[in-house]
Amino acid sequence: MVRIGILTCSNATQDLGCSSVSCLADLRKRRGAFADYPVDEPLDLVGIINCPGCPTLTGPDKLINRIRALTEFRIDAVHLSYCMKALCPFREKYMNSLNEKFPNIKFIIGTHEEHITSDEFRKRVKDVFNQPRKTMVDILLNK
Ligand code: SF4
Repeated sequence: MVRIGILTCSNATQDLGCSSVSCLADLRKRRGAFADYPVDEPLDLVGIINCPGCPTLTGPDKLINRIRALTEFRIDAVHLSYCMKALCPFREKYMNSLNEKFPNIKFIIGTHEEHITSDEFRKRVKDVFNQPRKTMVDILLNK
């Protein structure tokens, strides 16, 4: 039995509303990064947590603190989600810090299979971020 946690990008989950449905589907179906586990090894999804947001001045410390939501629960492996793999400019730095801080946990970059190329994925995410969106400002200014 492998006890698995998933770390997602908060831009994808909190801002853009991803429910991790593709990550979870491929975990169940053992596709993508989950295809590397032996077929007879049961996979137990213990928890999912999103990154606390881009690190600004704190560097990886913010993430190290946040990921305790997984690491305190006898996790064997943490997968950094596909969106982190495709979008996060800090992932290598994070991987170094996570491996150093939690030497008994395996950190793996990736979850579900790539449905479109990473370049196309990044372009589509950028387009969604950049679409005109009304905010409180529009209400305050009667727009
Ligand atoms: S640090 Fe990376 S994973 Fe976290 S919100 Fe920013 S881009 Fe997403």
